[in-house]
Amino acid sequence: MDVPVREVIRPASIAEALAVLAAREDARPIAGGTDLMVQLRDGRRLAGCLVDLGRLGLAGIRRAGEAIEVGAATTMDAIAADAGIQRSFPALARAARQVGAWPIQCRATLGGNLANGSPAADTAPALLVAEATVTVVSAAGTRRLPIAEFLLGPGRTALAPGELVTSVHLPLGKLPPGDRAVERFVKVGPRREQVISVVSLAARAVIRPDGTLAVVRLALGSVAPTPVRALTAERTLAGRRPDVAARRDAARAVQHDIAPIDDVRAPARYRRIAAAVLLDRFLQEAARA
Ligand SMILES: Cc1cc2nc3c(=O)[nH]c(=O)nc-3n(C[C@H](O)[C@H](O)[C@H](O)COP(=O)(O)OP(=O)(O)OC[C@H]3O[C@@H](n4cnc5c(N)ncnc54)[C@H](O)[C@@H]3O)c2cc1C
Repeated sequence: MDVPVREVIRPASIAEALAVLAAREDARPIAGGTDLMVQLRDGRRLAGCLVDLGRLGLAGIRRAGEAIEVGAATTMDAIAADAGIQRSFPALARAARQVGAWPIQCRATLGGNLANGSPAADTAPALLVAEATVTVVSAAGTRRLPIAEFLLGPGRTALAPGELVTSVHLPLGKLPPGDRAVERFVKVGPRREQVISVVSLAARAVIRPDGTLAVVRLALGSVAPTPVRALTAERTLAGRRPDVAARRDAARAVQHDIAPIDDVRAPARYRRIAAAVLLDRFLQEAARA
């Protein structure tokens, strides 16, 4: 692969990496390289110097009080295989397992998936549903942003030049006695596996013993400039049973939450129909849970 990069630096600490990024305008972080190498080759991104994040200790998943902290350099394979993530954030585990094929999952990182800013980033809807926060650091200090404020548009995030994502914070919730939780991630593409999403849905419902929805959180990918929470559909469903009437109302409401475009992968109209179908299937499953 021919990429116009003159230098690769492998800092041994976050401070060293931040110093290079602050000092050099042509420097860009690289984690797994599964997005960046392709973009450099195609001339869609430029970098004179790559700052390899591999030795900064940013990989790993740990319990942090009432939350799980996922390091930015944690691979999709590690996320998908983690028992705590599978148990508490099954949509994220499933999304990570659907990022490309297994060799890609062994290199692709969570930080890279977010920092790349793709509307189709598969982990983003799951993180929206988890109400995750993203920790970013720069030479100026550390800040934490809700994931919804981190994602700004196609190829755009809230990262300022010289900032690094260091981790993603996933708050753990407690289920009231008798309530059941259902959480899913599904994506639609031209084939079942190894595709960039045409539409993706991450959804979490908590169902009370009487069958009504105590909590419903919905987020979609590839249907707007960023992955989005479907707040109108959530409000429509709040407190109701996911019966036929509620499902019909939700299918209409979700259309207000999305703004898909026609592109090479699918027409906008297909995306609108697919979003409604994925939501309906999820609600049917929640009704049976
Ligand atoms: C064959 C193939 C299939 C793919 N399939 C999918 C798919 O199904 N779903 C999907 O969502 N994606 C897919 N991707 C895209 C890609 O694998 C993911 O987005 C991946 O998570 C990117 O992570 P990375 O570590 O490789 O990032 P890199 O390529 O290393 O970096 C991506 C961007 O993020 C920046 N960056 C990386 N880490 C940080 C950090 N910690 N702080 C600040 N900036 C950072 C880099 O500067 C760069 O701009 C696919 C890619 C390929 C090549």
